[in-house]
Amino acid sequence: MPVLNRVAEFAEDMQTWRRWMHRNPELGFELPKTAAFVAERLREIGVDELHEGIAGTGMVALVRGQRDGPAIGLRADMDALPIREETGAAHASETDGRMHACGHDGHTAMLLGAAKYLVETRRFAGTAVLIFQPAEELGGGGQVMCREGIMERFGIEQVYALHCSPDHEAGVFATRAGPIMAAVDDFEIRIRGVGGHAAWPDRCADPVAAAVQLASALDTVLARNVNAFDNVVLSVTRIEAGSTSNVIPAEGLLAGTVRSFSKQAQALVKRRIGEICDGIAAAMAVEIVLDYHEEYPVTVNHPAETAFAVEVAREVAGATNVTSEHPPEMGAEDFSFMLEARPGAYLFLGQGLGPRCHHPAFDFNDAVAPLGASFFARLVERALPLP
Ligand SMILES: [Zn+2]
Ligand SMILES: [Zn+2]
Repeated sequence: MPVLNRVAEFAEDMQTWRRWMHRNPELGFELPKTAAFVAERLREIGVDELHEGIAGTGMVALVRGQRDGPAIGLRADMDALPIREETGAAHASETDGRMHACGHDGHTAMLLGAAKYLVETRRFAGTAVLIFQPAEELGGGGQVMCREGIMERFGIEQVYALHCSPDHEAGVFATRAGPIMAAVDDFEIRIRGVGGHAAWPDRCADPVAAAVQLASALDTVLARNVNAFDNVVLSVTRIEAGSTSNVIPAEGLLAGTVRSFSKQAQALVKRRIGEICDGIAAAMAVEIVLDYHEEYPVTVNHPAETAFAVEVAREVAGATNVTSEHPPEMGAEDFSFMLEARPGAYLFLGQGLGPRCHHPAFDFNDAVAPLGASFFARLVERALPLP
């Protein structure tokens, strides 16, 4: 069975909603206009309950089936990015320096489309819990929603999410059981030495020399410490020190990111960065302070729920348009917090090859919205079948 016919009839609605959100991008937890717009649509659609103000501008809508039963969570993110749009589209961002470059406008529109169908048909036994979250890009809105207790409060037993993908042909679903997106950590290393005249380095403790040593020593962590079969990235992305040619500065700074797929590798890299900082501080007679933050954990798809989601995707998109062998990616997702709280799965929905997410020319492809909305709707109907 292809896209649900009734959902296909909402294609124009979803496009209109999506393009309104695209013209009005907002960032992080500060999504007053977007949240008000989504809440207004949900009231219009006639969801049974709407709980606003979760994690700031996040919200949860409930749609009850014809009979009682378990609750299934479906999540969409609503935030945009601080990027100046270059799509040239008629519905381009009306706020300079902000745009929906990750397709979250499309995710939200698809979940609204599913809501409309589920309210109209209610062919399931239980509750569809529609989760609209802020701050996926930065700030971990998904984690905040979990901390504010949405899983317990709404009795969610399984949870699912879709992300559009410009790396796949339009209409292709791609996922995998197990780790699918990396954990992301950030670090900042502050070096304090003794500044002075560049002609007398012997009277200084040089943070520039320490920064150079640090940067090259950090590269050895992956080459010499991490198991060759463990996928880890360590990138130093920022080095700052000094301002002129004849002064040795007193301070320096390095910053970077670590991406990993296992707790062991993550812990090992974190520990080695600390040891290297201490060792170089001693060797170079400077003071080094490491500030290491674990941001989002690994996004791990649960095997049974992933197999189920793949089955539903095959029903909606056709067997040849679904792959369950998508390789893990070094990007990260705060849906990982929801998958730590409940079993579920995260899938990519191909929107046709084009500019990648976070590129100024990226735009969600409205043509795939009926597929995404049908997928969400069928997930509910099949996970919570009527007797
Ligand atoms: Zn993104
Ligand atoms: Zn995204």
